[in-house]
Amino acid sequence: MIKTIKGLHHVTSMASDARQNNAFFTDVLGLRRVKKTVNFDEPNVYHLYYGDETGSAGTVMTYFPFENMMRGRAGVGEVGETQFSVPKGALCFWKDHLAKQNVGSLNADTVFGANRLRFSGPDGDSLALIETADDARAPWAAVGIPEEAAIRGFSGARFNLHDTAATEELLGFMGYQRADAEGDVTRFIMPDGNGADTIELAKLPQTGFARQGAGSVHHIAFAVDNREQQLEVRKALMDTGYQVTPVIDRDYFWAIYFRTPGGVLFEIATNEPGFNRDEDTAHLGEALKLPGRYEPFRDQVEAGLAPLTA
Ligand code: ZN
Repeated sequence: MIKTIKGLHHVTSMASDARQNNAFFTDVLGLRRVKKTVNFDEPNVYHLYYGDETGSAGTVMTYFPFENMMRGRAGVGEVGETQFSVPKGALCFWKDHLAKQNVGSLNADTVFGANRLRFSGPDGDSLALIETADDARAPWAAVGIPEEAAIRGFSGARFNLHDTAATEELLGFMGYQRADAEGDVTRFIMPDGNGADTIELAKLPQTGFARQGAGSVHHIAFAVDNREQQLEVRKALMDTGYQVTPVIDRDYFWAIYFRTPGGVLFEIATNEPGFNRDEDTAHLGEALKLPGRYEPFRDQVEAGLAPLTA
């Protein structure tokens, strides 16, 4: 069994409009944009990262805004809900704040005994705030969001699956423990995790498969401290029969990817070197950062990207 995974590292989704996406995650949700770079395979598309002050693992929501991309269709084989942690009592603020910002599909309920507020992102993204006791992570101090309500990072994610058995086995192998079940949803928790440490598996045998598009999660990344641990995890997964990519340099972390039996694309990402590798913490996310191979073409790359207001 793998013992070095700490919970989530980041969640990466797709969007249809960079400016709208940036405004939503910074102004409405109060996250900090910690990196403004481009899709390493398509430099005419941004890769925007939003998180806490430094982009700590377990706080980072990232987006590829493909301009005018068609919306995805929800279904099984994907991350069905991305869940952020807020302090107990914070949903009072958020209900009012999100309603004032005309955020869609606001829906309050409880899940595993915790208060949850579900809502849609700008492309119909399935997002939720979940009240969590004793989340010690410091929030980013955003304008208009009181500290006592601010997002602490992810609490976790829910996967919508046709069948959950193989994914349950995989999560157990990755170090998660089965905690409880509610209806057709089983919850797993990473002991001694980084706060972004729950995964819910919803078993939906009658639901059709998702079609990815704007508002869909592209992949979900789990955190290990360093490259040495990542190589151990890669070997363990391959020894178990998973097809895992070679290690890929993503400038701010090292990544390996593998497709899971339920259809969700997993990544294992390192906490090193981090987002302040090429910018001071005080100015994270401000300048357009390009991977080395695109630097000679900076003018053309920049001309192809919609300027972001802040
Ligand atoms: Zn990723």
